[in-house]
Amino acid sequence: MAEPLFLNSQMHEKIWGGTQLRDVFGYEIPSDKTGEYWAISAHPNGVSRVANGRFQGLGLDRLYREQKDLFGNPDSPVFPLLTKILDANDWLSVQVHPDDRYALEHEGELGKTECWYVLEAEEGAEIIYGHEAQSKEELAQMIEAGDWEHLLTRVPVKAGDFFYVPSGTMHAIGKGILILETQQSSDTTYRVYDFDRKDDQGNLRELHLQKSIDVLNIGKTAHSTPAKLVVENLASTLLVSNEFFTVYKWQILGRESFARVAPYLLCSVVGGQGLLEVEGQVYKLKKGDHFILPYDVAHWAFEGELEMIVSHPHS
Ligand code: ZN
Repeated sequence: MAEPLFLNSQMHEKIWGGTQLRDVFGYEIPSDKTGEYWAISAHPNGVSRVANGRFQGLGLDRLYREQKDLFGNPDSPVFPLLTKILDANDWLSVQVHPDDRYALEHEGELGKTECWYVLEAEEGAEIIYGHEAQSKEELAQMIEAGDWEHLLTRVPVKAGDFFYVPSGTMHAIGKGILILETQQSSDTTYRVYDFDRKDDQGNLRELHLQKSIDVLNIGKTAHSTPAKLVVENLASTLLVSNEFFTVYKWQILGRESFARVAPYLLCSVVGGQGLLEVEGQVYKLKKGDHFILPYDVAHWAFEGELEMIVSHPHS
C-alpha cells in the first residue's frame, strides 16, 4: 500500500538559538537555545525516523539504503537533501560552505548549496549575503584585517523572501529570523567571523579562515527569480531549480489533485491545515508537519488551506 512517510526529527541546540521552534511550530524543545530542527534528514548528525505506517521507527538513512524503490532507485548513495527549520534568536556565524569537489576532498562528504525561505522576520531583520571584495587578495586582506564593516553585504529581509545560497557564498542569518532551509545533505561549515562571541564555557568557536578563503566566490551572488503559476486551487511558485534540487512553494486553497512530478518529494507544511489523501486514506496535515511522498505515491490530493515548501533532488 502506497503511503506518505511522516517524520519525527531531531532538535539541535545552538548558542544563537531561541524558543521559536516551540512558540511558532509547537515542537518540544530541549532548551531556550534551540537553533535547528532537522525536519527531513538522513545525515548521520541527526537522522529523521518514520512516524507512521509499515516503516514506523525506521531511520530515513536506513530506509533510503534498503528500500531504493521507494525513492525511484536513485543513483545517489546517500539521501541527498536536508530540510531544516532554523530559529536565529541571534546572528549565526558569518560562514561559507564548500562545493562537492572541495568537500569530498577535505571533509569526505557532500558540499553544501542551500536556500532559505523566510518564515518570519522581526522588523529591521537582516542577513549577510555576499561580500564586497573584488579579488581573492582583497578578500584575504579584509578578512585578515577584520574589516567586516566594509567586507560583508547586508540585505534586509521580510517573511516570504527567498534566498538562493550556492556553495562559496559568504552568508549569515541575522537575529530575529525564522527560516526553512533546503540544502544538500552536508554538515560542513567554514566559519569566517563569529562576532567574537564566547560559549557557556567562555570559549570562542573555531574559525576556518584558510578554508574559507579557498572556497569563497568572488563576484555577485546568482539570484534566483521565483516564478508563480496558478492553476485551479493551487498557487505554485518555483523558488529555485539547480543541479542539486528544485524547491517550490505550494499554496492550496480548496482541493487539488496531483500526479508525481519527481521520483519523491520532501514536503513541509509551513502554514495552515488540511488533508492529504493517498489511495483513499486520509491524513491530517498541520503547520509543522514534514513528510516524504515516495515513488509509489503516484497520485494524491491536498485539501484545505495549506502553505507548503516542497522539494526534490536532482540525483
Ligand atoms: Zn549556511
